[in-house]
Amino acid sequence: MARRGASGGAAAHVPFAQFVVKAHGRCNLACRYCYLYAGPDRTWRTRPAAASDAVLDRTASRIAEHARTHRLPALSLVLHGGEPLLAGADRLGAFTDRVRERVPAGCAVHASVQTNATLLDAPRIDTLARHGIRVGISLDGGLPGHNTARVDRAGRPSWAAAARGARLLADRAPQAYAGVLTVVDPRTDPVAVYESLLALPAPSLDLLLPHGNWSAPPPGIRAGDDPGRAPGTPRPTPYGDWLCAVFDRWWDAGRREMRVRLFQECVALLLGLPGATESLGLDPVNAVVVETDGSIEQVDSIKSAYDGAAATGLDVFHHPFDDALNHPAVRARQAGAAALASTCRACPLLAVCGGGHYAHRYRAGGGFRHPSVYCADLDRLIRHVAARLAAVAVGSGK
Ligand code: SF4
Repeated sequence: MARRGASGGAAAHVPFAQFVVKAHGRCNLACRYCYLYAGPDRTWRTRPAAASDAVLDRTASRIAEHARTHRLPALSLVLHGGEPLLAGADRLGAFTDRVRERVPAGCAVHASVQTNATLLDAPRIDTLARHGIRVGISLDGGLPGHNTARVDRAGRPSWAAAARGARLLADRAPQAYAGVLTVVDPRTDPVAVYESLLALPAPSLDLLLPHGNWSAPPPGIRAGDDPGRAPGTPRPTPYGDWLCAVFDRWWDAGRREMRVRLFQECVALLLGLPGATESLGLDPVNAVVVETDGSIEQVDSIKSAYDGAAATGLDVFHHPFDDALNHPAVRARQAGAAALASTCRACPLLAVCGGGHYAHRYRAGGGFRHPSVYCADLDRLIRHVAARLAAVAVGSGK
């Protein structure tokens, strides 16, 4: 990822370095919290289920063109969905090979697939590993009770198939196992979730806050908690409390059991180092999405705000990715502190928090220029991590 300092100065036109390709636009699960198929966005309904050969071929050429134009030393290719394995592991492998063949010499292509793991069997794992595609798995914990919202269309639990797939991946191709992505549910026991994922075993963990905003707040947060509207009002922090408990468990064990990206990023940002997550910091977004019909879009999370929120009006058949860099919404997302609410710009935690995830700042009628709907939770987590770091600095913590 292209980075910059935490000062928040504008840095427009950071080239894209992460290309999220919707190889398949449908899913074999119907998770109860899914913002993609059960949220306000309806664009998926009119798109082809799978990306055609023509879309994939053109996408590979456009990625190579962008790599050439901006002399990218490396890029990230994320094969996404829906459930991307519905497109076929061979097809994902062939597309990845095509991208690698077309980028300029010296540009490394780091390929990964993000899957619900239910379709991971030995042939598919072997195919993905052979093509150098790392596998990230979406799970809400390492026990059946953590995954009750992850069900198929008939409401049947997906846990047994997902756990089988995850364990097979860990046994058969540990070098290809990227890690687990988990959506925080404050109703669960945070330490039990962390320890169950350790036992799975997951080599790394991405903790995501559920997508929500000031017009559709996540459970436990009220629309009136917006610090921009009611400064000084005490606000609940169920997500921050949950994250702090996991942080303490991870920190006290020496940070080596598992990489936890959110915590590593938070520590790095507190130390003034570059961060690399969309959830924290002021770095410009450098990810772009290609949908199954070839449309170029902003990242999926924005779809949780309103129907069509991720659209740019561009597509790989008619437009280079540079056109998307010029799109007003992308420029806004590369503007750092200049695009934030005044409450955030005046916030002492600005350089670390960065206003939180872009999608979580939305309020209908007011756009994205608001503090995060998780403002109080982020405040709680960042101050907690800072206190633990400070304790180490003065020799009273580990
Ligand atoms: S904690 Fe984050 S979201 Fe809240 S005011 Fe500060 S920068 Fe904005």
